[in-house]
Amino acid sequence: MSNEQWAARGNAVFIGTYNRFPAAMVKGSGCRLWDADGKEYLDFLAGIAVCSLGHCHPRVTEAICRQAASLVHVSNLFHTQPQIELAELLVANSFADRVFMGNSGAEANEAAIKLARIYSGPGKYEIISLAGSFHGRTLATVAATGQPKFHQGFEPLPQGFIHAEFGDPQTLEGLITPQTCAILCEPLQGESGVRPLEPEYLQAIRTICDRHGLLLIFDEVQTGLGRTGTLFAHQQLGVTPDIMTLAKALGNGLPIGAMLTTEKIAASLTVGTHASTFGGNPVAAAAAVEVLKVMLGDGFLASVQARSRYFVERLQGVAERYPHLATGVRGRGLLLGLVLSERGIELGMEIVQQMFAQGALINFAGNRVLRFVPPLIVSNEEIDQLIDALCRVFDRLA
Ligand SMILES: *Cc1c(COP(=O)(O)O)cnc(C)c1O
Repeated sequence: MSNEQWAARGNAVFIGTYNRFPAAMVKGSGCRLWDADGKEYLDFLAGIAVCSLGHCHPRVTEAICRQAASLVHVSNLFHTQPQIELAELLVANSFADRVFMGNSGAEANEAAIKLARIYSGPGKYEIISLAGSFHGRTLATVAATGQPKFHQGFEPLPQGFIHAEFGDPQTLEGLITPQTCAILCEPLQGESGVRPLEPEYLQAIRTICDRHGLLLIFDEVQTGLGRTGTLFAHQQLGVTPDIMTLAKALGNGLPIGAMLTTEKIAASLTVGTHASTFGGNPVAAAAAVEVLKVMLGDGFLASVQARSRYFVERLQGVAERYPHLATGVRGRGLLLGLVLSERGIELGMEIVQQMFAQGALINFAGNRVLRFVPPLIVSNEEIDQLIDALCRVFDRLA
């Protein structure tokens, strides 16, 4: 079966929510993917910042197979070893004392929203998030998402979600009412165009939370787990949240999410207040344990920082060479964006498609930035190959 045949079969049966590349992927290894026609790709998408250790990392594959052969699922009516080991690792390596496990980013954020409300008590239910944010596609997380295009057609949305202008702590503080219970933000906005929040801005948000007795929730679903060069993005920004959510890279491709918080705040979620049938599934948890062990291993995070420095330098070179298409580079670690000029933005989708034709996978985030989220194990040679492909595409468009 060819790509075209697979695509025809898929298009005949799926609800049309996705605009997919015309390829059926069949195999992955490290930073490489292969499609049904046997074409090879250099993958700088990593399943949207998910496969951070690369495709089919041997240690993760081994952990998945080992766990799948002994126990796949029992629900949270029972304790399981991988889930406990994972929670212990998360607690030992973060500000948090307690963990709730779900299956996705949206579910982790739902848990955070419910926790913030129940902890804050009756009448305190409003959560302020930022314009341009992305927090998921369930009704509550889409309401928290500060992008009107995701709301359209789904009203009425759950109440109590307010969006502050990006970058201005004063206007944010002006939105606080007696009903407000929390401020929710990503340390770096991924989906809307790789927009980092400056440390001073995040520190100002922390101060506002403290002044008004609000919880600070960091959505680290995309920035967490080594993506920005530290285990969690907030660790390099001098700001600690009260609640943090994780998902994308946690299982290196298996679906798992987590919501972390302190002992004091966690105490509000008592027996029966929240649950997930699959949450912290043993196979997904076994994968996540291995992911954390690899990332916490000697030199891993330092190597992400070194690769980031090299990649940023190379992308800056591209921006200098093609100023009519690109204006600069932004992001942290290996969550990087090439900011496009007005002309570049017009050509954004075209650039992504031409890169695909060249066998290089990237995407166009927030309709303004080319986003690069390679596996964190990417080599300098692979970065060079990506840059060469980009230059070939830009030469053709110039
Ligand atoms: C991807 C993402 C989500 C949603 O995660 P899902 O697993 O798709 O539900 C939430 N927040 C951020 C910051 C994300 O990048």
